[in-house]
Amino acid sequence: MGAVPMVPSMNLSVPTCALVIVAHPDDAEFQAGATLAKWARQGCAVHHLVLTDGSKGTWDAAADIGELVTQRRAEQFAASAALGGTGVEFLDHVDGELDADRATRAQVCAVIRAVRPQVVLGHDPWKRYRLHPDHRAAGQLCVDGIVAARDPFFHVDQLVDGVEPHRPDALLLFEADVVNHYERVDEADLAAKLAALEAHTSQMATTHFYKVGVGDPLERFRELQRDKLAALGADADAGSGLAEAFHLIVDQL
Ligand SMILES: [Zn+2]
Repeated sequence: MGAVPMVPSMNLSVPTCALVIVAHPDDAEFQAGATLAKWARQGCAVHHLVLTDGSKGTWDAAADIGELVTQRRAEQFAASAALGGTGVEFLDHVDGELDADRATRAQVCAVIRAVRPQVVLGHDPWKRYRLHPDHRAAGQLCVDGIVAARDPFFHVDQLVDGVEPHRPDALLLFEADVVNHYERVDEADLAAKLAALEAHTSQMATTHFYKVGVGDPLERFRELQRDKLAALGADADAGSGLAEAFHLIVDQL
């Protein structure tokens, strides 16, 4: 019946190909960077699909938005490289205006059918009390895109020139409303996650250093990221070490 297991699962087999679908540049790194780095190191092809252009990612009302978008695109490529990733694709919807409509679902579906990932990662569309509309829409698009991608009667116009439907083996939702799965990660994975997060230089003064507290902001930022993974590691079955947390769905795929 798809009930949430009482004991969370731990560590999927390393996939040969993973696709992470996010609203903005830096979301993948914050939510799943260490897991993606772990898999990439073991030979997984890690692809990013970024749905918006990141054009609202500044608190400077006088910022040149064209420059910001160009910079954030370059930062996302650098972050992917820091994780050992193999590709980044942007859909370039306007930041803050992402809709989970049928046309955008078709775009996500097309990428899933092209990349053919074993594991898809995305925002949990059912996360309660989340404010950002793009994160809700991106989660819905991820889930709906998977359903469409696997079925030959969704977006039939795409199924030409050798393009086939594709069914992933697993979906990992991050920012999960109900955590039922952990990926254990190590110091090297954390280091890669931090390097990838710090590649998003345009976000350092805002998102990254927001509420880091007293002290050197970069050191505090690194400590807080480590603390977060350590707390998740303590929550995980193992009880120690570092981890990232997800809601794993396999039974409806
Ligand atoms: Zn975001």
